[in-house]
Amino acid sequence: MERKSYLWQHHTWPELAGAAKRQPVVVIPIGSVEDHGHHLPLDTDNFLIWSICEEAARRAGGEMLLMPLIPYGYETHHMDFPGTIDIRPEHLLNFMLDITRSVAHHGFERILIADGHGSNMPILDLVARRTIVETKSLCGAFIWPSLAGSAIREVRQSGRGGMAHACELETSVYLHLDAPRVQMDKAKKEQGMPESEFVWMDLMEGSPVLLMDEWTRFSKSGVSGDPTLATAEKGAKVFEAVVEALVRLVKEFKRRPRGERTDHHASAAGA
Ligand SMILES: [Zn+2]
Repeated sequence: MERKSYLWQHHTWPELAGAAKRQPVVVIPIGSVEDHGHHLPLDTDNFLIWSICEEAARRAGGEMLLMPLIPYGYETHHMDFPGTIDIRPEHLLNFMLDITRSVAHHGFERILIADGHGSNMPILDLVARRTIVETKSLCGAFIWPSLAGSAIREVRQSGRGGMAHACELETSVYLHLDAPRVQMDKAKKEQGMPESEFVWMDLMEGSPVLLMDEWTRFSKSGVSGDPTLATAEKGAKVFEAVVEALVRLVKEFKRRPRGERTDHHASAAGA
């Protein structure tokens, strides 16, 4: 096994101190161990986000430093499905914040949290915000499909609801990365979440009202979407677009301007 200079954990501590001086963007990937229908393995979110991040780190020319994958996420609403591992929101928030605080403590000033599991996002948004107000570092969070919306819309065949979970999108990318692990003969379309004017579920188009019911109330298989439309060709296009976008994001985030803070208390007192 080779030593990979873009992996945080492949450095010695003196090397890591040196890396901090170059100020690469530190990327923290997080996924889940969670049901993904009858056709995809429990590792889907972990495998997809790690593959995207590792390929982007390889291409980013030293500007991205990739941390170990956090393999578990917030899953209470999925716990009727065997194999799913649930981290309670307050634990996940504090755990992730401890990681970003540690990264900031070692002098890295730009941190991105790369998410592979939708229900982590409200928590990761808070982690990023708290990192900003509690450390000197700038921190943002994203879920991977958001980086390549136009490329995904180009290959998409399903209507609203077809891309939500174990769906046309996730199944396509998994087929591209490791087709033998996908049991396409068991892939079934299921879109049971009741749609209304204000509430629906789709990864590419959030509904006006945020609502997440317990999954077995609307999904028998664990699928929400249409995996029968998935192909490896679509997956290849989406994967390439997301990886390219992440490299661009890292380069932009590293150079993102940030103004000085101003504490107005002292000047207000003198006025
Ligand atoms: Zn997933």
